[in-house]
Amino acid sequence: MKISDGCDNRCTYCAIPLIRGGYSSRPFDDIVAECEELAAGGVTEITLIAQDTSRYGCDMGDGHYQLPELLEAVSAIEGVHWVRVLYCYPDSTEDRLLDTIQRLPKVAPYLDLPLQHIDDDLLRRMNRRGSADWIKSRIAECRKRGIILRTTMIVGFPGETDEQFQTLLDFVKEARFDRLGAFTYSAEEGTAAAKMPDQIDEAVKNERLDQLMMLQQGISMEVNEARIGTRCEVLVDGFDEESGRFYGRSLLEAPESDGCIWLNADRELVPGEYVQVEITGADAYDLEGTMME
Ligand code: SF4
Repeated sequence: MKISDGCDNRCTYCAIPLIRGGYSSRPFDDIVAECEELAAGGVTEITLIAQDTSRYGCDMGDGHYQLPELLEAVSAIEGVHWVRVLYCYPDSTEDRLLDTIQRLPKVAPYLDLPLQHIDDDLLRRMNRRGSADWIKSRIAECRKRGIILRTTMIVGFPGETDEQFQTLLDFVKEARFDRLGAFTYSAEEGTAAAKMPDQIDEAVKNERLDQLMMLQQGISMEVNEARIGTRCEVLVDGFDEESGRFYGRSLLEAPESDGCIWLNADRELVPGEYVQVEITGADAYDLEGTMME
């Protein structure tokens, strides 16, 4: 469910504000009414998205961020079982939002917090708000509340030195994100970064991407292995003809961006149903589980 369009940030590599304009929140009541309609039609999982979800409400009323209130309202709708939030910006991810995510049982204790980099100089040149120290303190606040983290990084931004890339690797090793996606920088027409000197060679960018993803693969593997033996509720998503197995997701797997849980069950499952599962296996992307009666 898209809760706003456009973006007021001006990340130097991004053309979205040029294409979609400034931040424009959808009216609160319209979003809630649409969620109610979806729930009445049988939808049980709602994912709130925007270019910058955590800023929702900045252009309404007194300008305070209203994502916490929206989460309260959507999770109170009868029939809504799970609510998720994707694409938050670190500086608008306030404690009040983290507290709300922690407090509401239907809301996934999961934040997608694209950070892009951690080197202060690169963050400045990307025109991202927040220093490395401050970002680390936000991560600590999430962890304190048991919120799992997905992030996105860009490698090969113009001028990224070997040392700055190493700073990123060290940070990823230390932060141990539950999920991490990464991209090589690509110049977008009309953006400030496209005109920056010291564009990085494609081969170097790809090599850095491989190094980062290899590092994260090990971390994701350990994170997933730590879930073996735990139990969780799983929403059945579908049946895979090739493997002959049903698959689904728990509250900790966002649709499309995260892996899935392969299900062993001794009965036919129905996509859309929720089942209790014990996790029995893991790789770096997916989990395997057995349905509990
Ligand atoms: S990267 Fe995201 S936050 Fe930055 S300008 Fe683009 S849409 Fe906005």
